[in-house]
Amino acid sequence: MYRQMQAILADTVPDFELKLKAEVAAEINRLKAEKNAVILGHNYMEPALFHSIPDYVGDSLELSRKAAQIDKDIIVFCGVRFMAETAKILNPTKKVLVPSEKAGCSLASSITAADVRELKKKYPGVPVVTYINTYADVKAETDICCTSSNAAAVVESLKTDRVIFIPDEFLARNVARQTGKRIIFPTLEPTKRNGGELEYELIGWPGHCEVHEKFTLEDVKNIRRQFPDVVILAHPECRPEVVEAADFSGSTTAMIKYVEKTRAPRYLLLTECAMGDNIAAANPEKPMLRLCSVRCPHMNEITLEDTLEALRKDQFVVEMDEEIRRRALRSVERMLAVG
Ligand code: SF4
Repeated sequence: MYRQMQAILADTVPDFELKLKAEVAAEINRLKAEKNAVILGHNYMEPALFHSIPDYVGDSLELSRKAAQIDKDIIVFCGVRFMAETAKILNPTKKVLVPSEKAGCSLASSITAADVRELKKKYPGVPVVTYINTYADVKAETDICCTSSNAAAVVESLKTDRVIFIPDEFLARNVARQTGKRIIFPTLEPTKRNGGELEYELIGWPGHCEVHEKFTLEDVKNIRRQFPDVVILAHPECRPEVVEAADFSGSTTAMIKYVEKTRAPRYLLLTECAMGDNIAAANPEKPMLRLCSVRCPHMNEITLEDTLEALRKDQFVVEMDEEIRRRALRSVERMLAVG
């Protein structure tokens, strides 16, 4: 295990730490086989975890697809709680574990099922598109889910005049820009009318990712001043002006593929810092700048040590009401059918 991790992480993780991490990872892999478990790892996991124990790595969409096909007894989801919930929604007979109870998400907790019911009452008949970064009871109230990689395609697939798009304000604004739709945030601004017609096609909600909202246009300008040859990649949860000033915007997996397929003097990823480490480890010849003061406290809750405890004690088991699960499943499956 140590040699396998060293081959990728020698320049990223100090050797003494790598040896300790390798011991934990080896024990996790032994227990994983003994308990007939599978480990899914999100792209934001710290390098020592990302490059050792997951059977599959990816973004929310890829891991959702994978979770639906798992035939092992236990799914350990190295990601935050809403992701583990999505695995349970798609594969309910499996025991799904999330290694830390504290792995929440500012976007997921920005909206409740009651908020969605209120929005539906205010805009009757308007379909609701819900970002995958939400809890099961919110998904259950909605028509279709989306991820950052298929948000625009999901909105376009509905072919309706108006769509409620929740809960990420910046993703909604970026989708509006991408699809040429006008957007309104009823909790932020008054409803505008033009000759009796409502002047918008997207109805948003002011939820934010506490990581991506921290990147500013000033950051982009500062980086470009110092490194004029940098290629900047921004996640669509970043502010629209940041996305516009970047060279590329896409989901975490789209960013990874972009770096793999291009050759720039240096890259900067405007997303959780661990992903820059993971890409740098896998592509040592590609210089990677990082803004690592911006970290996701929830993703960082998931460590190798917690994952080992999760497997040893079968904790923390993801459970949900069956009626909520079935309704949430409908909106997740509709999304998967769009692609
Ligand atoms: S990075 Fe943002 S969206 Fe992702 S889990 Fe953390 S707070 Fe939530």
